[in-house]
Amino acid sequence: MHRAVKSTCREILHPSGPRVRLVGVMKTLLSALSVVLLATVGARASDTPPSGPFTLPELPYAYDALEPHIDAKTMEIHHNKHHAAYVNNANKALEGNEDLSKMSVWDLIKHLDEVPDEIRTTLRNNAGGHANHSLFWLMMKPGGGQPTGDLAEAIDENFGSFEEFKKEFSAAAMKVFGSGWAWLTLTPDGEMVIETTPNQDNPMMNGGHPLLGLDVWEHAYYLKNQNRRTDYVDAWWNVVNWDYVAERYAEAKKD
Ligand code: MN
Repeated sequence: MHRAVKSTCREILHPSGPRVRLVGVMKTLLSALSVVLLATVGARASDTPPSGPFTLPELPYAYDALEPHIDAKTMEIHHNKHHAAYVNNANKALEGNEDLSKMSVWDLIKHLDEVPDEIRTTLRNNAGGHANHSLFWLMMKPGGGQPTGDLAEAIDENFGSFEEFKKEFSAAAMKVFGSGWAWLTLTPDGEMVIETTPNQDNPMMNGGHPLLGLDVWEHAYYLKNQNRRTDYVDAWWNVVNWDYVAERYAEAKKD
């Protein structure tokens, strides 16, 4: 549609003669109209289910695998309803935008400045939500564990000890007002920091490398813990996938 509108402007700005100009404008308007009609039909046909570039990834474990720390019902609704909704909404927002549809979710959230104004907030929230949850599932595993190797050393160096790191991270998670996330991030300068983001923002939106993230939206714990976010945060430490965090740290250091 943009191309058609642009060529209309070009015809008007650079006419090659009154008759040619009129015919040219009529033709361009007709083709613009047909594009609009096709786009409308296309949108209707793809309302259910949305096609689009993104798909809901499968969990790498069963819904009940993180019991008793995180209950099966919460995992199921969180994945199959909340995460699915972010995927569907991002896909809907991208309908008709071929260029953005070719981008990975990571590239998209790193380059929100390239997204048109009218869909930027929708994509910030929903592509952001898709990215965050895709990471979150991998950042957990049954059995949990402790950081090892380079990662453990870096945590000790930056926070004093693993226990001290956990305390600081938990405190940051508790301080998130409303909905958001707590992160362990490697900044673009290579500094290891604890930070929080509102809504579905991700450290990648500021050039950072998220190593570990904790979802503190109420939908992540309300069924089991009701208003007690602190119980959820305490329980979550038992299911952190430190091997995956270490992999992400090794990758981030290469950049
Ligand atoms: Mn969530």
